[in-house]
Amino acid sequence: MSLIVKKFGGSSVANAERVFNVARRIIDDYKKGNDIVVVVSAQGDTTDDLIAKAKEINPKNPSKREMDMLLASGEQISISLLAMAIETLGCPAVSLLGWQAGFETDSHHGISRIKRVNAERIKTEIAKKNIVIVAGFQGLNKYDDITTLGRGGSDTSAVAIAASMKADLCQIYTDVDGVYSADPRKVPNAIKMDEISYDEMLELASLGAQVLNNRSVEMAKKYNVELEVLSSLEVKPGTIVKETVKMEKTLIRGVAKDNNVATISIVGLQDTPGVAFKIFNKLAQYKVNVDIILQSVGRDGTKDITFSVPLDQGQIAVEAIEGMKEVLDFKSISLNDSISKVSIVGAGMESHPGIAAKMFEALYDAGINIHMISTSEIKISVLIDAKVADKAVSAVHDKFLG
Ligand code: ADP
Ligand code: ASP
Ligand code: MG
Repeated sequence: MSLIVKKFGGSSVANAERVFNVARRIIDDYKKGNDIVVVVSAQGDTTDDLIAKAKEINPKNPSKREMDMLLASGEQISISLLAMAIETLGCPAVSLLGWQAGFETDSHHGISRIKRVNAERIKTEIAKKNIVIVAGFQGLNKYDDITTLGRGGSDTSAVAIAASMKADLCQIYTDVDGVYSADPRKVPNAIKMDEISYDEMLELASLGAQVLNNRSVEMAKKYNVELEVLSSLEVKPGTIVKETVKMEKTLIRGVAKDNNVATISIVGLQDTPGVAFKIFNKLAQYKVNVDIILQSVGRDGTKDITFSVPLDQGQIAVEAIEGMKEVLDFKSISLNDSISKVSIVGAGMESHPGIAAKMFEALYDAGINIHMISTSEIKISVLIDAKVADKAVSAVHDKFLG
């Protein structure tokens, strides 16, 4: 007998038929004598629809506390429906909201971190032979207010339960049958991986491969929770995410794309000490996450600085810098919100020169212009125009993995 944590994403429970499909998959493993904890996301596009509803009331900045109160309701619908489906099929089930399941988080509404899962209630329900269905993506802060974990956060809820209960297995069911070398919906010849290391998966997830939330991979690595990413619709093995994997011949494991990017260029800054400090200190005060930074060589006493931020923080960043016009004395500032980041990831690239050149050649052959470049030991990213991003992913994927 094993303790199995299973997470089902929004598309896996999108309608009644899918809810019953998931219920049957759960029951199959329950009837084999396993203890089962299930984490579910909101059905289909529910979370997006709730965000749209909030925008009808306050388009610019609805209270973050109330946003969490609203968004957490999506998962309340899916857990109750799934529990009902399991009961209808003749097995005992109980649904629990995040706070009932013991999810304690910090107070950063909208992007809370899980501090602890006090799994007492879950254990009690398991002891009663219930299949326990937990709402993903949510918890409770120290003020007893509902929090949410950021988009895609249900993956992290599942890993947190698996870690705190020392589960034997943590399965992330989704609408594709594993982790691929690129988004299989965009790149038809993408290759399915049998296994991938935490580090490579973490990079891919952080760089836009939404199949796993990056914080879930971070947590899985920290607590050594082995994950399996698999299909909720087909019964077949998926991809295992774990510490070390057998060496692949390919240097590049995958290509990822992130559309959640904007760049900001400040032109005609004074070429004097302290300018970069003042800009990025101000952005830090506004809690803007700066990613890639490019500074031009000073000429005639002036220089330009361009940097990238998440798309939804672009406007805030521009306003923050414009507010410093007196102090900074620059010529102009512009925002480009039609940008994508395309990245290649592979632990093998560290010891192999020429990988960057090969990537840039693929982009050159496809006629794609690079705006900015950033590299680390196991990844290379380029910022390009959003409208050619899919073409870029295919070109780069073909070059290394085609
Ligand atoms: P869920 O609702 O189950 O959490 P998501 O939509 O968050 O599902 O993640 C699954 C999607 O991730 C897939 O439908 C696929 O289009 C996308 N995806 C992006 N990159 C990859 C990749 N490298 N491998 C597999 N899927 C990927
Ligand atoms: N329902 C949430 C979202 O859409 C959480 C999740 O799907 O993991 O982001
Ligand atoms: Mg997801």
